[in-house]
Amino acid sequence: MSNTVGTLYVVATPIGHRDDITRRAVDTLRSVDRILAEDTRHSGPLLRQLGIQRPLLALHEHNEDAATARVLGMLQAGESLALISDAGTPLLSDPGFPLVRACREHGIAVVPIPGPSALIAALSVSGLPIDRFRYEGFLPRRRQARLAALEALRREPVTLAFYESSHRVAETLADMAAVFGGARRAVLARELTKRHETIAARPLGELVDWVAADANQRKGEFVLLVGGAPAGDAALDIAGDELLRALLDELPVRQAAALAARITGAKRNRLYRRALEIAGD
Ligand code: SAM
Repeated sequence: MSNTVGTLYVVATPIGHRDDITRRAVDTLRSVDRILAEDTRHSGPLLRQLGIQRPLLALHEHNEDAATARVLGMLQAGESLALISDAGTPLLSDPGFPLVRACREHGIAVVPIPGPSALIAALSVSGLPIDRFRYEGFLPRRRQARLAALEALRREPVTLAFYESSHRVAETLADMAAVFGGARRAVLARELTKRHETIAARPLGELVDWVAADANQRKGEFVLLVGGAPAGDAALDIAGDELLRALLDELPVRQAAALAARITGAKRNRLYRRALEIAGD
């Protein structure tokens, strides 16, 4: 057994186009003792095409806890390992978090080998502000939970980013339009870097109709981006809702809105509309 502790390299791989891998990523994958892959069958062709022949070990969401302990042992015995996922940057809606945290806790070096991610690729071409954004990963599959998650984001002022699969993209867009309003700016980024790459920047309502009308636009992998809530809406935050709710317990809608406007300085009309919504819930 070696006295030197190994290193874990977290290596980004292509999200579609096979040339989107850095020279440093290839060199790292060639030089490590073992490659930890989310799906060894999926990563096999990429590694073969790059002429890389290193032993593979599966590390996926179903064996993550058990594999982490084993992998930690390998690193402590001096092996250098590379972690890759099926696409893009590991840990970003992909396995690896328990392992990286365990490495940090055990003083094992974790080195990033940066490269593609569908999230950053989509944001970079979206035309939406990306100086700040909020990444939400995949929304819940069940409709009620999905609507609740979207509702909680309704007044978020920064650009929102989601991953979505072909099975639910049409339903998710429809739910987004229902919660955020059909006029909200949005971008559908489909099959990035692949043959059928499509980047459609349209209001949510138009995206819903477009995707419903063309089955091809429901195929493949998706990043959905939604513009942040307009500034006025953001000012009326959850605290404002709480105030309105408390006032509505005691007062009619019009008086509650007027009093809330005096307290918060927000526009009385908007508070009145919101008070009507809350009263109707
Ligand atoms: N770790 C990856 C990354 O860095 O982007 C993402 C892994 S996550 C399990 C897979 C999801 O990412 C897909 O369901 C899709 O939402 C999104 N995605 C991956 N590749 C994509 C592509 N080429 N075009 C659009 N979305 C993509």
